[in-house]
Amino acid sequence: MTSLIDTISCQSDYDPNALPVKRAQELILSMITPVSGVERVFVRQALGRVLAQDAISPINVPAHDNSAMDGYAVRHADLSADASVTLKVIGTVLAGHPFAGELKAGEALRIMTGAVIPPGVDTVVIQEVTQVQGDTVIIPAGQKLGQNIRRAGEDLRANHAAISAGKLLRPAELGLLASIGAAEVSVYRKVRVALFSTGDELRSLGTPLEGGEVYDSNRYTMWGVLTRLGCEIIDMGVVPDNPQALEAALKSASENADIILTSGGVSVGEADFIREMMARLGEVLFWKIAMKPGRPMAFGKIGNAWLFGLPGNPVAVMITFYQFVRQSILKLGGQSPVQPVPTFGVPTTVALKKNAGRTEFLRAKLTTGPNGLEVSPAGPQGSGVLRSMSEANCLVILEHERGNVAAGELVQVQPMDGLV
Ligand code: AMP
Ligand code: MG
Repeated sequence: MTSLIDTISCQSDYDPNALPVKRAQELILSMITPVSGVERVFVRQALGRVLAQDAISPINVPAHDNSAMDGYAVRHADLSADASVTLKVIGTVLAGHPFAGELKAGEALRIMTGAVIPPGVDTVVIQEVTQVQGDTVIIPAGQKLGQNIRRAGEDLRANHAAISAGKLLRPAELGLLASIGAAEVSVYRKVRVALFSTGDELRSLGTPLEGGEVYDSNRYTMWGVLTRLGCEIIDMGVVPDNPQALEAALKSASENADIILTSGGVSVGEADFIREMMARLGEVLFWKIAMKPGRPMAFGKIGNAWLFGLPGNPVAVMITFYQFVRQSILKLGGQSPVQPVPTFGVPTTVALKKNAGRTEFLRAKLTTGPNGLEVSPAGPQGSGVLRSMSEANCLVILEHERGNVAAGELVQVQPMDGLV
């Protein structure tokens, strides 16, 4: 079998010292294949999981032709194109209570939304245009044959896939599954992620800081994003910059997880033993990605686990996670197709400095101004300033080739949160 390193490094335009973001994303995604484990879960437990087998509908949805409106069920042949007609109202049909008989010539039935269309009926006239007179109803001219009727199987046909494998199950899909009577579904097992931070300066919460120490915040941001992505998290805490501790952590992680996610220790000036060790334990590539923030990153495989060695700076770790790890988790978790969060063009309120030859990510605020949507940077952009990440509601992505941006120019905005 060809090694990971051979497969990647034979690609044309592969330059580990200045890898464009897009290229790194493509290389990573091309390597990763979905986990094979599948489990059966009840439909409520399926929220946020990925469907592993097509959900085939055993029934037509709707199951019967039914009325789309409240009104009168009629026979179109009784109506006239240019004059109103008077029909005898012989009863009412409610949703859930099908009419026992058949509608005959000259008759109408009052019908409610969702009620089954009785035999003989081919058209529904909305009640707002009709006029009731005693036990008759006057139907105006010009009603169309078949109007206001939802046909059996119009939404879903029996024995066809209601949802295809690979789909993330959101609230709409839970409803759709319920609508075909599916109480259980097959979903991919959760992606297991072993998570640890590296650095002698890191302290866990609950202990006071001594000189030169910082609290380990990366494990909390990463826990947050991994939880939102529905991963099973193996939190391995802080691992000191010490070869034995690190080797033990990487080995144990590789035996228990699909992904090993570390932060810190991958930049060039950093204790080189970390890089050496990662490389010795598996196949690990050290990349300098042409991006800001987040330049150094390790990617590879140790045993059966994918390794993402993210930079240590708190903002860099989040941005590199969003741009590289997120999609990998989606693919590993069985989602297909894997798509990036959509971006859209919005004018920037201020000029932005930008170096061509790298992708730059700004924490920003998307707001509605007098002329519609506009975006502005959210505070200082240093790669350690988590506060501006918190104040931001979107990222501005300044493309690889782009240079300085003038105020008013369109920039690509990627929202951080979606609808539910
Ligand atoms: P490194 O990539 O290990 O050189 O770390 C870069 C910077 O990020 C240093 O200032 C570290 O102290 C800081 N840093 C690294 N890991 C963490 C962490 N888990 N939480 C907060 N800051 C961190
Ligand atoms: Mg470090």
